[in-house]
Amino acid sequence: MASLMSGDSCHVVEDEPCCHPIVDDNESTEIEAKEPKKNRVKQSIHKSFFILGGVIIIFAAIRNTLTWHLQKCWGASGDFWQALWVKVFDYFEGDAFIIGFIGTNLVACITFWALNAFFLFMDITGRPAFLRRYKIQEGKNDPVSRPQLMKALKVVLFNQFVVTSMYSLLCMPIVQWRGDCILRELPTVHWVLVELAVFLIFEEIGFYYSHRMLHHPMFYKHIHKLHHEWTSPIGLTAIYAHPVEHVLSSLIPATLGPIIMGSHIATIWMWFVMVISSAVNAHCGYHLPFFPSPEAHDFHHLKFTNCFGTLGILDRLHGTDILFRKSKQYDRHILLTSLTPLSSTFPDSPKRSK
Ligand SMILES: [Zn+2]
Ligand SMILES: [Zn+2]
Repeated sequence: MASLMSGDSCHVVEDEPCCHPIVDDNESTEIEAKEPKKNRVKQSIHKSFFILGGVIIIFAAIRNTLTWHLQKCWGASGDFWQALWVKVFDYFEGDAFIIGFIGTNLVACITFWALNAFFLFMDITGRPAFLRRYKIQEGKNDPVSRPQLMKALKVVLFNQFVVTSMYSLLCMPIVQWRGDCILRELPTVHWVLVELAVFLIFEEIGFYYSHRMLHHPMFYKHIHKLHHEWTSPIGLTAIYAHPVEHVLSSLIPATLGPIIMGSHIATIWMWFVMVISSAVNAHCGYHLPFFPSPEAHDFHHLKFTNCFGTLGILDRLHGTDILFRKSKQYDRHILLTSLTPLSSTFPDSPKRSK
């Protein structure tokens, strides 16, 4: 997934020559620096447990809190989520095409555009002004230029409505062959948690290796370069990509887990909400308070050579985060839990004069 413009405000790369264009000599040397493999494997395993455990705990906590509030404040009784799902299921009479195809694409579209409406408003108007101090690459695409936005919009809409729809239609028979996933009864919370952990692993593996492959000179110029036109991405560019990349790096890694597990359609909807929110946030260009850190993927758009994965586990294993770990962005790669921007807490080092 990827980005572009010309002029100071837009920060676009028009004629980027190859797959690793914006790295100076010092940085290249740093990338070559080898860390002991044993250390990286150990840290990668540690990171896997930490991230997967963290996501599961956060999901369980959010679900319990939401259930409590809904039952307390809205007077919902019994199992709120089961009751809600039964209403949806019965309303559409369990129709596989309406729930499986239209419903899934609708959930994906609403999630993508609801988040992007918020970020686009900021990118175009620069308002609300107090949020601009959270911009990661200060002054870049601030405001975003209209021609570049229009170009991005065309690619995004094509990927969303043509490529994704065709992919969904192709997936439907595979999903149905895997087992009936449109059931009236929801799976248990514990099973959903197990499935989420599996989805995350497939997403990390699928995205990391397909993304690294797309950086190979053989594929980069023809496919992935489009996504990297934006060196300072905006939310919309989460799916600004060549259709082949959209299928290979976005759709397949996200659907692999649910297909293998034969998941319930409601679990798939929830997973897609998580994946799409995460992709938009990773490209949004703002490190907002209480939002997951988008620093790693923003760094990937800036430097091209590091941070290929989503969770950072495989980047640690393969040492493709060495440059990132030495950067200021790595210091800022945390959950911001105060209103002070991380660019103030960890300011850029003053430029050395030659
Ligand atoms: Zn990207
Ligand atoms: Zn890339």
